[in-house]
Amino acid sequence: MNDTLRNIGENLDRLCTVTIRPQGNGQTVVWRLYEAAREQIGAPLTMDAAQRLAAALRPRDTVLITTGAGRNEYLPVGETDGPPGAAALGAMLSQALDAVPVFATEVEYLDNLAATALAGGLGIRNFDVARRVAGTCALVPMPADDSAPAVAADYFRRFEPRAVVAVEKLGPNDVGVAHTATGRPASAARARAEALFDLAAERGVFTVGVGDNGNEIGFGKIRDAVRRHKQYGAECQCPCGQGLATRVATDALVVAGTSNWGAVAVAAAIAAIRGRPELLHSAEVEHRMLQECVRTGAADGSLGRHTVSVDGTPATVQLALLELFRQVITIGLQPPRNRPF
Ligand SMILES: [Zn+2]
Repeated sequence: MNDTLRNIGENLDRLCTVTIRPQGNGQTVVWRLYEAAREQIGAPLTMDAAQRLAAALRPRDTVLITTGAGRNEYLPVGETDGPPGAAALGAMLSQALDAVPVFATEVEYLDNLAATALAGGLGIRNFDVARRVAGTCALVPMPADDSAPAVAADYFRRFEPRAVVAVEKLGPNDVGVAHTATGRPASAARARAEALFDLAAERGVFTVGVGDNGNEIGFGKIRDAVRRHKQYGAECQCPCGQGLATRVATDALVVAGTSNWGAVAVAAAIAAIRGRPELLHSAEVEHRMLQECVRTGAADGSLGRHTVSVDGTPATVQLALLELFRQVITIGLQPPRNRPF
């Protein structure tokens, strides 16, 4: 990693780990988890993920991207944190690397994710068409039952993914229980997306996890830190008693204040690697993704309301951070200034 990209990565990491949360443990946990991940990875997390994705994906290679977090009657088709970030990252991988994004989520969330991806500029096709047509993607269901490993194997056979990415996707602990951020058991309808990551680990396929609480796929990489710093990390509020810290680790891990911010920061880092900051999506697209996500049924995961907001922060915050990411990569790639003053 050269100095320019490292410096850009440092700034993207700082921006995406800002925490705008109510009082309590949640205000500081992201910083503690970031420190643990940073110590292990030894480089800015966003740039590390971006560089390794860029190295793993050749033109027309498939990248599997999973997202979607719902909770019974409060979030019946999922929340606004996840789909917009996954769509933005998928669109960047499509544009910058000519990769073919295939999104995997709960069958109940497919329409919501498709609408969000389309708003992000990705056309929706079946896989056989998407693999030939640039700028398009495919979506597939990920089951919530014991068929998940067989389905994951089928997807690996059909799509031959060269990278697998999770954005705000719950991961189970050692006894197979996934938890919400408040240490309660996840919905029984939760897609067993960990099957994709277990298979990727077995086959040496590169993986990325993006999350904001420690209960998501990827954080198995720093499980001890999650158990130590996250409320309910070691001891949950459910009968399993094993805590919300997930066993599922990924090669690259991006810790963020809100998962969408982490995913967009990785997208910005990829644009920087390509020397093409103009590839980062516009404020208009960001706003449209969020609006489409809500229009098709998603709710704010912190508020439990169908508002155009993410984890309790309004659309203006999503747009402000996007603009800061844009300026970090745009100005950060410019040559030194020779000031005559
Ligand atoms: Zn539990």
